[in-house]
Amino acid sequence: NNSQHIRNFCIIAHIDHGKSTLADRFIEKARLVSSRGPVQSQMLDNMDIERERGITIKSQAVKIPYTAADGTEYELNLVDTPGHVDFSYEVSRAISSCEGALLLIDASQGVEAQTLANMYMAIEHNLEIIPVINKIDLPSADIPSCLHQIDHDLGLDPDMAVMVSAKTGEGVDTLFESIVQFIPPPTGNDNSPLKALIFDSQYDSYRGVIIHVRIFEGMLKEGATAQLMHNNAAYEIDEAGVFQMGLVRTGELKAGDVGYFLAGIKNISDIRVGDTVTLASNPAKEPLAGFKDVKPVVFSSIYPVDSNDYEELQQAIDKLKLNDASLVYEKDSSAALGFGFRCGFLGLLHLEVVQERIEREFGLSIVFTSPSVKYIVTMKNGDVLNIDNPLDYPDPMRVDYVEEPFITASIITPATFVGAIIPLCMEKRGVQSGMNYLDEKRVELVYEMPLAEVLFEFYDRLKSVSRGYASFDYQVSGYKRTDLVRMDILVNGEPVDALSQLVFRGTAQARGRTVCEKLSTEIPRQMFKIPIQAAIGGSIIARETINAYRKDVTAKCYGGDISRKRKLLEKQKEGKKRMKMVGNVEIPQQAFLAVLKTD
Ligand code: GDP
Ligand code: MG
Repeated sequence: NNSQHIRNFCIIAHIDHGKSTLADRFIEKARLVSSRGPVQSQMLDNMDIERERGITIKSQAVKIPYTAADGTEYELNLVDTPGHVDFSYEVSRAISSCEGALLLIDASQGVEAQTLANMYMAIEHNLEIIPVINKIDLPSADIPSCLHQIDHDLGLDPDMAVMVSAKTGEGVDTLFESIVQFIPPPTGNDNSPLKALIFDSQYDSYRGVIIHVRIFEGMLKEGATAQLMHNNAAYEIDEAGVFQMGLVRTGELKAGDVGYFLAGIKNISDIRVGDTVTLASNPAKEPLAGFKDVKPVVFSSIYPVDSNDYEELQQAIDKLKLNDASLVYEKDSSAALGFGFRCGFLGLLHLEVVQERIEREFGLSIVFTSPSVKYIVTMKNGDVLNIDNPLDYPDPMRVDYVEEPFITASIITPATFVGAIIPLCMEKRGVQSGMNYLDEKRVELVYEMPLAEVLFEFYDRLKSVSRGYASFDYQVSGYKRTDLVRMDILVNGEPVDALSQLVFRGTAQARGRTVCEKLSTEIPRQMFKIPIQAAIGGSIIARETINAYRKDVTAKCYGGDISRKRKLLEKQKEGKKRMKMVGNVEIPQQAFLAVLKTD
């Protein structure tokens, strides 16, 4: 049985520890790309946003042929995964399609929050884990301390650890040998009824829906009729193949394989990530376990800038959902913005990525409303409401009490930054519940804090007060009582419903002030004076005024940052098509975004 020579594994790690760079070395060794010609790095990060931001957003699979030292031929299926918390759903799905994981640790940074979080996920799915210490070429590499952490913090065998430099390629050969030696081959029988797990999918305007599957049992062949187990929809398989820097047709997939198939899927909503594909001729009795439901924590509405684009936006979101299983949405409408969609996201970075993908991949201009968490509102008459949209917030006179989601945050930092991090957490209404010295130099701070407080800028500020060294991870821990108010924003006397926010009373005024200030710099001057106000109920808590006309858009760029100025000018040019009329005021899309980033 040739599945003895298959190894399915993923690369998991904290962000920036070198996963995508290591994947490059694997791809190069396997000569999947010519070594001449322009060499790209992070080859699997093929979306524009990934390349620009230098981060992985999507998990990507690639099949690599490998001849071991003893001459045996292997097929390695490698899945590169994202490191940022917002994309951990991508990681969990990659993990479900593998038998093993390479857990990368940056030799100069050591174990960080996502190292732990991803390791637990791998353990939960019974993966064989190989610890890999990366970046050993760096002068600041501290291998003994990494080995100590692998033993002490991770509970893995330090003797298993492989030392590599993904940059220079040192140690990568040894790593290949460890993979074939320690990661078990897939089990599964080619002759059983087909059970293929859909772990991802994508929409391609030429080829239609491309379904990414891991075959657990049986075989999938061109010409056979695939049946989707959640609704029994049946489609003939037109093409099947594997991922090898693009799609490579092979005609069939066997037990243990990772690959794709095309089947002229008409109805996009038939395809669900986590569903099991079987064959109509010999169907499996039970589907595979699938994936845990995603639990969005941030909610915001999307509207087309031009209301005529609503249908197109609907199609775009349906197609994006194929490739982003963590996106949840339903129809919504607003007085200021018309028809749109209420969406749930796994975090603010996820929200930004969705916005960019809709704009770039579907050429639509959209606006987002201020993000919110989900509040539990208990009314005086005993009714209990779940509110994530400020517009649904009931009359405060009828509200008995409100609860908001809290998180347990774990911040791992070099001890020198503790003094700067504690006040930041306190400002965010955090209450310390633990402080653990991981070793002489590193501390884990544990805080209970409101989720709403970390949505805005917390992560950026944490990075800046710790010069990039602190890492952050959280889990939603439950709900606690809070004092909530709805803050409305009035532009030229008109409330802009899309800018309303639910805020903690104690911080409402400060928030109102920043929002007004931000708006007054983002809304271009117009023919008339525009008052911008923040209000709670009938009372105004903050106010700014935009004076009539101003031409120089670069005036707000202090300092000599030329590229920032250029960007701003380009943005402004683009901005023409991204204006939204509210009453008689033109509000650029940028203004909506700026507000949601204010703190
Ligand atoms: P990912 O977020 O885990 O995918 O990390 P990337 O592969 O994008 O790498 C993050 C940064 O670390 C990039 O600037 C890489 O060039 C750098 N890097 C990755 N591996 C090594 C290594 O072995 N040595 C050194 N010096 N830098 C590395
Ligand atoms: Mg990456």
